[in-house]
Amino acid sequence: MTDVVLLPYDRLSLSHSAMAGAAPKTTEILLIESEQMLRSRTWHAQRLFLLLSASAHVEQELRSQGYTVHSISAPSMRAGIEAFRREHPDARIRCTQPSSSSSQRALLEYGVELVPDDTFLTSREEFRAWAGDRRPLVMETFYRWQRTRLGILVEHGAPVGGTWNLDKENRLPPPKGAHPWPEPLRHEPDDIDERVWQSIIDRELPITGAAPNGTWATTRAGALRQLAYFLDTSLVDFGPYEDAMPRDSWSVNHSLLSPYLNLGLITAREVVDAVVERFHQGGIPLASAEGFIRQVIGWREYVNGVYWLFEDNYRNSNELRADRPLLPLLSEPSQTKMACASSVVSDVMDRGWAHHIPRLMVLSNLALIAGVRPQEFLDWMKAMFIDAADWVMVPNVIGMGLHADGGAMMTKPYAAGGAYVKRMGRFCSGCVYDPGKRVGETACPLTTLYWDFLDRNRATLKGNHRMAQQFAGLDRLSDLDDVRARARDVLDGLSAGTI
Ligand SMILES: Cc1cc2nc3c(=O)[nH]c(=O)nc-3n(C[C@H](O)[C@H](O)[C@H](O)COP(=O)(O)OP(=O)(O)OC[C@H]3O[C@@H](n4cnc5c(N)ncnc54)[C@H](O)[C@@H]3O)c2cc1C
Repeated sequence: MTDVVLLPYDRLSLSHSAMAGAAPKTTEILLIESEQMLRSRTWHAQRLFLLLSASAHVEQELRSQGYTVHSISAPSMRAGIEAFRREHPDARIRCTQPSSSSSQRALLEYGVELVPDDTFLTSREEFRAWAGDRRPLVMETFYRWQRTRLGILVEHGAPVGGTWNLDKENRLPPPKGAHPWPEPLRHEPDDIDERVWQSIIDRELPITGAAPNGTWATTRAGALRQLAYFLDTSLVDFGPYEDAMPRDSWSVNHSLLSPYLNLGLITAREVVDAVVERFHQGGIPLASAEGFIRQVIGWREYVNGVYWLFEDNYRNSNELRADRPLLPLLSEPSQTKMACASSVVSDVMDRGWAHHIPRLMVLSNLALIAGVRPQEFLDWMKAMFIDAADWVMVPNVIGMGLHADGGAMMTKPYAAGGAYVKRMGRFCSGCVYDPGKRVGETACPLTTLYWDFLDRNRATLKGNHRMAQQFAGLDRLSDLDDVRARARDVLDGLSAGTI
């Protein structure tokens, strides 16, 4: 029986999970390029390029190590596996657990054996056991459990520095005036990159957004370079500015490691160990080290756990019955005069990336308070972001961003008016809209829609005690009828691309 490892585009680790223990003498490799998948949606050009080029680099690496690599182009994954089985009837095919429940079902149906994905620090079973009957699943509780059981920044069972959470030292707005933000690292294309990009063009694959521009690496070596660069230039100030949205830096002090983590080019353990080691060497504030580690061993693992715990129906949730079609500004930033939305969508078009606050408090917040259909917004986010994967987009969009799950993940909606964006960003000066106004032609659409959202969803959200303050604020509004009228104009204008 031939031992074969199937390596999908986003399961590219050569040492973990299905590849653990593999060797050229005993293992053959199967790569399947599915035409159905390539043409399933209009992809951000850089995302599709990253998937194809990272896979092509892995293929070259495996061949150079002496592996037999079967590289198949097929109409679909199923057709590819069937064609391979016809040629190799004795093959036993295994694959790392895929990144979406639909792929998982499909691979099992095609007779592929699934190997647990050990690039996460928490297996799906461990998360399930932790979750048990607990509801809500509070991230902070999970994070402290992670820190303790993994022994990360913990001494004698207590957090280093005496406190688990240093958020109060973080979350600063962008500094006033010029600030020496780290210059993002450039990743120069090699021959494989050039060839892959040319084939995307030649085959007229469905793409949008800017062509690859050196923002993203396509190899493990590039991912390691990015990690080293982050440690040297950005970790020190990661904490204070992790939520800031300046205009003079798109990357701020973020690591830009998510695509590589999600493809398996680098692991959470490698990243966390490197950050802890750098912290112990000195010169890195605890608030920055802790703030970063919280993202990786807390949020990332929690989101993965939630996805596999809630599974299929979760993605279709729409508890707030939002039914507005996708806003035109998401495909064309010039379709809005809102400086924040247009700037963030332009950034996404340029690089397939924006940090967690523009994703949450600009894009998702706008979709939430405008009542955009969650599944349409989810599809757009999945197509446009460089690090998108079902396991990470579904909880972040359906649960955290749009509260479409009715609070199964986050206890209250992340709904905010223009004041938040004004405090944490530098978009508002020069914008035609005023975040301090909720009515009138120059009222900030976010501010108007925030109040209108509370008003529209009063019946559903009123019972949530964490929303009491917000509803008390709504009850104090003396101009609610005017707000409602302005909200109707704003919603019509957003749909028409004139706001
Ligand atoms: C609506 C929404 C959608 C998102 N979609 C994705 C997605 O498709 N893919 C993705 O990897 N992240 C997603 N995130 C999380 C987060 O925005 C990105 O991980 C982060 O911006 C990536 O940039 P970075 O590597 O510089 O992250 P850093 O800020 O440097 O953080 C370090 C790492 O922490 C992890 N992380 C932090 N927050 C989260 C989170 N909420 N969920 C999962 N991992 C997290 C990421 O692996 C990230 O690389 C989403 C967040 C929101 C609010």
